[in-house]
Amino acid sequence: MTIRTDLFRRTASAALLLLASTAPAAYAADPGQPPLTEQTARSGAPLDPAQEKLRFDSAELSFEVFPERESIAGVAKLRFTATDPLETLVVDLDPNLPVSAISIDGTPLPESAWENPEGRLSIRLPATIPAGRAFEATIAYAGTPHVAVRAPWEGGFVWSQTPEGKPWVATAFQMQGCDLLWPCIDYPTYEPDFVDLHITVPEGLSAPANGVFRGVERLADGRSTWSWHATNPTIYGITLNVAPYEEISGTYASRFGNSIPMHFWHLPGRDERARELVAEFAPTLDFFESVIGPYPFADQKLGVVETPHLGMEHQTINAYGNEYKKTPDGFDELFQHEFAHEWFANQLTAANWDDFWLHEGFGSYMQPLYGQWREGDGRYLSMMLALRNGIRNQHPIVSGEPQDAGHVYRGDSGPSGDIYSKGAWVLHTLRNLIGDEAFFDAVRLAVYGRTDPRPGNFEPLYRTTPEFIGFVNQEAGRDLQWFFDVYLYEAALPELEQSRENGRLNLRWKTPNDRPFPLPVEVRIGDRVETVVMEGNRGSIAVPEDAHVVIDPMSKILMQSDSVDAYQQYLLRRMRGGGH
Ligand SMILES: [Zn+2]
Repeated sequence: MTIRTDLFRRTASAALLLLASTAPAAYAADPGQPPLTEQTARSGAPLDPAQEKLRFDSAELSFEVFPERESIAGVAKLRFTATDPLETLVVDLDPNLPVSAISIDGTPLPESAWENPEGRLSIRLPATIPAGRAFEATIAYAGTPHVAVRAPWEGGFVWSQTPEGKPWVATAFQMQGCDLLWPCIDYPTYEPDFVDLHITVPEGLSAPANGVFRGVERLADGRSTWSWHATNPTIYGITLNVAPYEEISGTYASRFGNSIPMHFWHLPGRDERARELVAEFAPTLDFFESVIGPYPFADQKLGVVETPHLGMEHQTINAYGNEYKKTPDGFDELFQHEFAHEWFANQLTAANWDDFWLHEGFGSYMQPLYGQWREGDGRYLSMMLALRNGIRNQHPIVSGEPQDAGHVYRGDSGPSGDIYSKGAWVLHTLRNLIGDEAFFDAVRLAVYGRTDPRPGNFEPLYRTTPEFIGFVNQEAGRDLQWFFDVYLYEAALPELEQSRENGRLNLRWKTPNDRPFPLPVEVRIGDRVETVVMEGNRGSIAVPEDAHVVIDPMSKILMQSDSVDAYQQYLLRRMRGGGH
């Protein structure tokens, strides 16, 4: 998702965006209602032991959406294979969506066979299912789903209205998980191989969704059912979008020889701005396919839908709610950011939320990288420096322990916005250290599992931070664990201590816990740039007494900065009303 709009969000241009943004149409239901249990509110919490005995093969999800009473009814057919003998099926489902019927392989169960007090729907199976056996659970449920407090950051359903007063419904579940919508296993590595969706909506509304369009059926009562087929969907990416949408579509001729369907569903009356945004799709695809590799879901679609909330990386149906804002960077950063997640979240999916930065660090780095691809180094650095002001260094980006999504995203317990801005700066520094060839090959190994991706020769992958470090070491041809130990696993930034005496500039890296950090440093001395080797965290270079010296003149390195620290302190004081 997009970075949280808090104090240290992207500096001046972000401040303008905040001022310019207007709240969407008022929510009819109370945000935060009905309340969630602790279990349902967490996404990626530890698995139930019974869930570890399951392989999730596929799901067929049917929804009826009732905007006027802000409720849904669903039937979920879940197909699993038992990997160990299974006596109880446990899936996650918000208890605000009570279950009315369950059958296993077509045999209805008595109501006494299931219970869902806290959000773990526990189903006693009629007989033990042996290891290796596939089975199907059909679960019917209905109710009033949780309304988002502040989508997409505090997620749930968004029951909004278009300017004409028509229903405009969206969802965002990254923080709280798929179990707010359907019975799933709310854990990143439990993606089904495919999901079929059937979404029934009132007359005059459409329901664009994940994957390939399989047709629309008009019902006798005037409603319509929209069917979609999505392969390897990211677990929090399954989404409902309902409105009187208009559609713009086109086809992109890929450099890899295939063609990619492109679709944008927008509200009526916004055709001109919508067309301007759609005009960005092809050059953005060209950038990603040139610099990273093939669009991972070319056989499905590039899909974007206009939403009442800012954005979310819903696979092949990205949420877009940026109001077509312009920036001096020359492209829609919200669209570009969410689209980046097709590579970094949906193709490469973090195996645990502790690796959240693999989504957001890369997702955020792709905007400056696109700026560089479009306009060169000046645009790139200006965008990187804007990100630099938001880095807070309160918690390490990666803890090394399994985490749920909210724990990482909340600033009191986790790295929060640093997974975006600091993550992007770690990648910037790494790229400067190892060079473009090694950097982008390591990225391709992480994203595709190979350095020569072509359409059809890769599958979506789960990745961890140590795996990414391994790919970097492999491509760089040396062990760079020290680099990640400081930047990812420590909160504080390395500080570069400097002193000048006897015609020399002496440099020393001061790191948390005195970790080794032999990162070379460029220094401009007068009109020439020299590289100072930093073996043992120390380096030295001859400098004429009267020479003007600039450390790291091209801002290649993420390190502690007095001026950024002072600026952040100033913003904090101003926010607290403590002067100017
Ligand atoms: Zn994001």
